Amino acid sequence: MNNTNRGRLLVVSGPSGIGKGTVCKELLRRCSDLLLSISCTTRPMRPGDEEGVTYFFKTEEEFERMVQAGEFLEYAGMYGKRYGTPRAFVEKNLLEGRDVILEIETQGALQVIQRAKEDVTSVFLLPPSMRELHKRLVERSTETPEKARLRFESAYREIEYAEQYDFVIINDQLEETVEALRAILIASHYGAGRALDHMHALKEEQVL
Ligand code: ADP
Ligand code: 5GP
Repeated sequence: MNNTNRGRLLVVSGPSGIGKGTVCKELLRRCSDLLLSISCTTRPMRPGDEEGVTYFFKTEEEFERMVQAGEFLEYAGMYGKRYGTPRAFVEKNLLEGRDVILEIETQGALQVIQRAKEDVTSVFLLPPSMRELHKRLVERSTETPEKARLRFESAYREIEYAEQYDFVIINDQLEETVEALRAILIASHYGAGRALDHMHALKEEQVL
């Protein structure tokens, strides 16, 4: 759609432990009009989780019903649990001109990039080194060592997807990463394709 008023869908992805949550939280603090899409998941609640704030927690049956009803913009399975982006929230807000951010893993991000191409600006976060990624995953200590190891190993495959994204940021210094992301979000409003309606209107405008 060539609509300058439509919101942008900012997709931020990258391997587990790279800093997606940290970076997005800081970006949301700085961009008061940006909305975070709250995902649905079948994983159990962890300390610090809050229904409707960190996730909408669903049973397998509820999640599957939503899949069948086409209620997800994308969904993916991770380590036996399912995660999905509710379609209605994203569509309503884009239509009403608000920007929405999705902080999701790579399988889901690639679905969104393909399905909602014209609305999406995609950013992949890479670590400065694999050693640093490992350090962040271990120091965060939200998973058992075994789960952290699985996540770290899958990072070697996931980083191959980086080239399918619009932008890649090496998340070394947090401040630089957040500012780069903010600049990308601002610039994404100025794609030439979005101005086609306006350009046509200018051509129709009779002045003399
Ligand atoms: P993800 O959401 O990608 O799994 P998190 O946001 O949970 O990652 O970040 C993983 C860990 O890395 C956290 O402990 C976080 O504080 C840390 N971290 C994030 N970004 C940076 C950065 N630029 N420099 C150093 N540590 C970081
Ligand atoms: P966690 O269980 O640690 O909260 O999240 C695990 C992974 O799921 C993270 O990489 C996170 O980005 C991803 N994730 C969260 N919500 C969604 C979603 O709606 N869709 C997809 N595809 N991934 C998600």
